[in-house]
Amino acid sequence: MQAVTHLAAGAAIAAWLRPHESRARLAVATALAALSHVPLDDLALATYHPPRPLLHDPFWIAFHAAAWLGAALVAWRWRASAVVLAAALLPDLDWVLARPTGLWEPGALHAAVRALPGMREVSGTLRAVVPDLRAQPAAAAVELAIVALLLALAHRAQRRAAPTPADAAAASLAEG
Ligand SMILES: [Zn+2]
Repeated sequence: MQAVTHLAAGAAIAAWLRPHESRARLAVATALAALSHVPLDDLALATYHPPRPLLHDPFWIAFHAAAWLGAALVAWRWRASAVVLAAALLPDLDWVLARPTGLWEPGALHAAVRALPGMREVSGTLRAVVPDLRAQPAAAAVELAIVALLLALAHRAQRRAAPTPADAAAASLAEG
């Protein structure tokens, strides 16, 4: 998946678990965010992911530019939960750090998450049922929908945890 999608998953997990409230919550949210990475990468089968960069293709370029802008906006909006968001992206250090530096075998972080109990079964199930749409530009809409859903969940969880003054006024009006 694109970075924006992993970050949106981190935002949803952080909004739901409120990691700033205790170290235990932070630990659980961070671990769950790192775990979320691999199933999302499996779902990426159903999103626009050509195997090689298509630098001559305006749609490919526009999609990636939008995805990176989205990643920057999500990271900024949820910067208070930076640790959880970073954990959601962590396995991709395989590609951005291990591959260019040779510090470890590229793919080892993804493999480590996949080796945890139950993860192989989750991946196997997803890969068996998710259609392979990676070469289809229209499948960019699938990733957009996943990002929108995750951000909607994040905002909903955050509003529940910390209602704005307007929400509180509306709630007290509703209660009469
Ligand atoms: Zn990945």
